[in-house]
Amino acid sequence: MATFSTRFLGCKVSFADAQAIRERLLADGHDEVAEGGEIQVVNTCCVTHEAVSKSRQAASRAARSARSVYLTGCASNLEGAFGDAGPNVVVTGRTGAEAAAFVAADVGAIGCVNAEHRLDRVRAFVKIQDGCSFSCAFCVIPLVRGATRSRTAEAVLGEIRRRAAQGHREIVLTGVNLGCFRDRTAGYTLARLVREAGSLPGVERLRLSSIEVNHVDDALVNTLLGTPTVSPHLHVPLQSGDDGVLRAMGRRYSASQFERRLAPLAGLNLTTDVIVGFPAEDEIAFERTLSLVERLGMTKVHVFPYSPRPGTRTAAEDTIAPEAKRERGARLRALSDELCRRRWLTRVGTTDRVLVDRPGRGYADDYTPWLVEGEVGAFVDARGVGVASEGVLAVAA
Ligand code: SF4
Repeated sequence: MATFSTRFLGCKVSFADAQAIRERLLADGHDEVAEGGEIQVVNTCCVTHEAVSKSRQAASRAARSARSVYLTGCASNLEGAFGDAGPNVVVTGRTGAEAAAFVAADVGAIGCVNAEHRLDRVRAFVKIQDGCSFSCAFCVIPLVRGATRSRTAEAVLGEIRRRAAQGHREIVLTGVNLGCFRDRTAGYTLARLVREAGSLPGVERLRLSSIEVNHVDDALVNTLLGTPTVSPHLHVPLQSGDDGVLRAMGRRYSASQFERRLAPLAGLNLTTDVIVGFPAEDEIAFERTLSLVERLGMTKVHVFPYSPRPGTRTAAEDTIAPEAKRERGARLRALSDELCRRRWLTRVGTTDRVLVDRPGRGYADDYTPWLVEGEVGAFVDARGVGVASEGVLAVAA
C-alpha cells in the first residue's frame, strides 16, 4: 500500500479527471492523505501562462517530498512545459480515463477495496465529453486535449445513477466543450441527455458546468426551463463584448447574437469568462464588454488577462501593456462584484434551498452563494437576511 494525494489546477474538467485518478487509487487499495504522501498526482492546467507557472510550482513542491510524482492533465500534454522535471517525476502526457489507468498501472494495485466510503458526497462532476474541435485563436486546449469526442449516453446516465446511489446531492455535467456532446448511435443530443439525467431517481439537482453560446438553442432552453431538477444557472463564456475582438479571437458569434441567444434565459443566474487585454482590444472595445456584461445582468465574471499560448494563432501577439490588462481586469471584477451584489440583494427576505458544501456556506439552486449554517452535504431551507462580500447572509428558515 502507498499513501497518495491528488490535486488539480484549472477547470471542472481538470477536477473530474483528478477525481477519476483518485478513485482508481482508492479502489486499488492505496491510502489517501490530505497532502503529501509517497505518490503525488498533480493534474495540471495550461489555459494561461500563469496556469502553467502554477502547475510547475506544484510539481516542484510535490517532487521535494514524494517518492513519485505523476503530472497529468492539460499542461502535461504541452511540449516542454515540464522540461526540467526531476527524476522522480513522470510527465504522463495523458488526460481523463487514460491518465487514471496509466497512473494506477504504474503505482500497482494492492487489492480491490470498497472506496465508496471515502468519496465526497456533496457534488459529483460527471464528464460527458472531452476535447474541442473549435479553433479559437488564443486557445491551446484543442492542441492538448484533441478533437471533440463524447461518452455514450448509456455510460453517462449509468455514472449519474451510480453517483446518485452513492448519495451525491448535486450532479454537474462537465466537458471541455459541453454542447458538442452527441451520441448519434443512441440518438442523444445534449438537451435529451440533460432531460433524462434530470429525471433519474435520486438526482436532486443537476447543473451544466459551462456551455458555448452557439449551443444554447431552443431545445436546450426548453429543457433548462422545463426540467425541475436543473439548476437555473448557466455559465456561458463571453470572452469579449466587441465584434472586432470576437472576430480576431475566432469566436463564432457576434455580441448581438450572444445577447439574443441568452434573452430567453433572462431570469437565470448567468455567469461568464472574459479575456482582457487581447491584442485587438482597445479601450472602446473593452467598454463594450463592460456594457454587455451589465446589460445581460451577468453576475460572476471570471477574468483572464490575455497571455499568448504556444502553438496558437496569436502565439506571437501580445500588444496590450500589462498595466492596461491589470486596470481592465480590476474594472471588470469591480463590475462583477456590483452585479453579484445587486442579485444577492434581491434575495434578502426570500427563502431558497441551499446545498451546504463547506462549514457556513453553500449554493442555492441558481448557484448564488449563501452564508448559512448547516450540515455539510445537506440541503437547508434558508432565509436571506443581508448581503456580505461573499454572498447572501442567511439563517435557517
Ligand atoms: S471553444 Fe474555443 S476557448 Fe473553448 S476549448 Fe474550444 S477552442 Fe478553446
